[in-house]
Amino acid sequence: MIELNDFKRQWAEIGPDVLAAVERVGRSGRYILDKEVTRFEAELAKLCGTAHAIGVGNGMDAIEIALRALGLREAERVLTTPFSAFATTLGILRAGGIPVFVDVDDNGNIDLDQCRAALTTDRSIRFFVPVHLYGNPLDLDRLLRLKRDFELTIVEDCAQAIGAAFHGRSVGSIGGAAAISFYPTKNLGALGDAGAMLTNDAAVAEGARALRNYGQTSSYLHQHIGLNSRLDELHAAILSDALLPRLQSWTTARRATAARYRAALPGCGVRTIELADSAEAVWHLFPVFGHRREQLRSQLSARGIQAAIHYPRIIPDQAAMQPISFQCFAEPQNARILAETELSLPIHPFLTEAERDEVIAACSRSLAPALQSAG
Ligand SMILES: *Cc1c(COP(=O)(O)O)cnc(C)c1O
Repeated sequence: MIELNDFKRQWAEIGPDVLAAVERVGRSGRYILDKEVTRFEAELAKLCGTAHAIGVGNGMDAIEIALRALGLREAERVLTTPFSAFATTLGILRAGGIPVFVDVDDNGNIDLDQCRAALTTDRSIRFFVPVHLYGNPLDLDRLLRLKRDFELTIVEDCAQAIGAAFHGRSVGSIGGAAAISFYPTKNLGALGDAGAMLTNDAAVAEGARALRNYGQTSSYLHQHIGLNSRLDELHAAILSDALLPRLQSWTTARRATAARYRAALPGCGVRTIELADSAEAVWHLFPVFGHRREQLRSQLSARGIQAAIHYPRIIPDQAAMQPISFQCFAEPQNARILAETELSLPIHPFLTEAERDEVIAACSRSLAPALQSAG
């Protein structure tokens, strides 16, 4: 069985370090907002190249907290992508925002030309939540130009892209703030829910620290209607000791698999992501796009290889959105095509050489020459 995420192998590698971290926190008797969280926040900020990192409960809360700390007003519009984890839009809605969707490009990342068109048409939009989807960084130079030209406040959704860079610059460092998730399947996946917000702005960091902790600005004094969304000491210690030190080698392993797939799979008739020259992707997922997705999926499954669809339904088409107020600046037709043709192959860091070859072999056998590339 080749799984999409191999938590058993991960545990075999990290188990002793996790247990030592649990032991240390247990002995300390300090479980909430203490020195483990402070230490992990400093390490994370350093890794991501930002002045501040604030540990929170999960990635979705990080988006809500970021938008609120940056001053999003109730019922204010937020430009964003229709093709992502639903949590991206949920974070915007929870912060009181109204999502404005544009379409995506062939890689599934938000179409920055359409963003410019939308912002030119409607000068009142001040907030933008782009997603570095699948771990493939958006063009940060273009994001910075949009930010400058329209005085935008950007919250980068980096849930899938920790460590990714464009032109040598880390994602998560260009906007007003950024959100990271440590959901177990993410590149820096914890043993449960956890997340963080990044920012270079000390006042925004301070606001976020209050919001995550009941809106408290000092003991029992509540300045805002806050959340309970704290990263706990246990998870901070586990992230610091067992996970963060391994992120670089895990990313290297993901990149090696991606390089193999990218060389071999186009010959099998599926399209893969086209990387920009300056993009250093971290391959949270390895999507392929093809019209005979179900055929590919069942042939993989027959050989014991797991695959999954990210994502089968675009956000504006979700049932939950129907009674909600939102706008589509452009018809998200590309996003709909990707929703119908995308399939994610295993790319976790514990894949062996032989397993990579098996995935490639299964794709070539099942697809050539029937499957045409999509998009
Ligand atoms: C996982 C994910 C989130 C949400 O993170 P949680 O920690 O599960 O709340 C948000 N956006 C994207 C793009 C994600 O992949």
